[in-house]
Amino acid sequence: MRIDHKAKLVSDADRCVMCGLCSPRCPTYLKTRNEAESPRGRVALINALASGQLAVTARLQAHVESCLLCRACEAICPSGVEVTALVDRARAEMATDRHRSLRQRVFDLVLNNPRWLRLSGKALRWGEHSGLRALARYSGAMKAAGLNTADDRLPEIPAQPRLRRYYPAAGEPRGDVAMFRGCATAVFDMATLLDATHVLNHLGINVHVPPDQVCCGALHQHNGAPEIADSMAQKNVRAFDQRNIDAIVSVASGCTAMLADYETLWHGVAGTPAFASKVTDINRFLIQTAWPAGTAVAPLRKRVAVHLPCSQAFGLRDTTSTVELLRKIPDVDLVALPGNEICCGAAGSHMLTHSDMADALLADKLAELTKIAPDILVTSNIGCALHFRHGLKKAGLDVEVLHPVALLRRQMT
Ligand code: SF4
Ligand code: SF4
Repeated sequence: MRIDHKAKLVSDADRCVMCGLCSPRCPTYLKTRNEAESPRGRVALINALASGQLAVTARLQAHVESCLLCRACEAICPSGVEVTALVDRARAEMATDRHRSLRQRVFDLVLNNPRWLRLSGKALRWGEHSGLRALARYSGAMKAAGLNTADDRLPEIPAQPRLRRYYPAAGEPRGDVAMFRGCATAVFDMATLLDATHVLNHLGINVHVPPDQVCCGALHQHNGAPEIADSMAQKNVRAFDQRNIDAIVSVASGCTAMLADYETLWHGVAGTPAFASKVTDINRFLIQTAWPAGTAVAPLRKRVAVHLPCSQAFGLRDTTSTVELLRKIPDVDLVALPGNEICCGAAGSHMLTHSDMADALLADKLAELTKIAPDILVTSNIGCALHFRHGLKKAGLDVEVLHPVALLRRQMT
């Protein structure tokens, strides 16, 4: 580890006064009651590593890797300790000695290139429909490639229509936004992107979809490869011409939080502050937009449970937009999912790399859903939606999982 990196890690970690206020908010501590799985435990381990008191061991690395990066601890910390930034930097320092596997390199290449990203969705769908995915599953090739957890948890790839570059407003234009696609959303939930575009157009907003945009970089930033995240951030800043748009809207709160973080992560890089200042979550943008008089929303006599992704509640510090937006639907019975302050376990790639913890956290959510028996569960993050769908299906619970904007789109006639 470089000396200057070490010194900065130590001084940032030293801000932790070990008060323990954060422990009851930490999902991994609540499930394990192990101090090394708490925020202050992780900060202490990172401090000891950076100051040379501890060497990198598999056990130490496991405690740093198991952090969900949910930021629940940061929301309560009186000392302003940026636990997740410390974890990101420690992972990057520990990763310098590791070689990126062939699978990771293919992943890097695909996510960093808009054309490859588009083609990969089509290729995955082709693989499914040609029987290749089933063949790989039954021949053991999926397991040998380390993809069996992903195969078990990820749904069938839906149709992959290509987004146009421009969707004009219906009627007199009242503004212009640029849409961030997001890699997982573009592959697994193109329907929500199209629903968001429809709602925006319906409210008089022109929607631009910059073709050269790439993945937001969150998966790399949080998995020890900040230099790849950096290259993605630079491509995105260049891809979005911010001069003629009012906002950059994103439908996945995980991506939105990462895009908004560009300013902190790449402070001083040309174009980054202007880019980050325009990034807005779609729910927030829709409640801040003046709706044309007479916009009709049909009533819905159903119970809708509202899940709050950590990236929305703690990353974007927004706990109200989803409910405010859905209140525009007459008669809907909105219920906040109890325990929203605790992560559901999806947490980016965590549900694939730490599936036991992800399942344990999801089990609590499923128990609450059983009690409140909603017809629909809304969540604004694609990872959480996939995690919930998988869990609900396994548990035999008949609850539809939708993005809030997809539900709104249904009610807009
Ligand atoms: S980010 Fe979440 S999982 Fe990680 S230490 Fe903080 S509360 Fe715990
Ligand atoms: S991270 Fe903050 S809340 Fe947690 S123990 Fe340290 S100072 Fe206290």
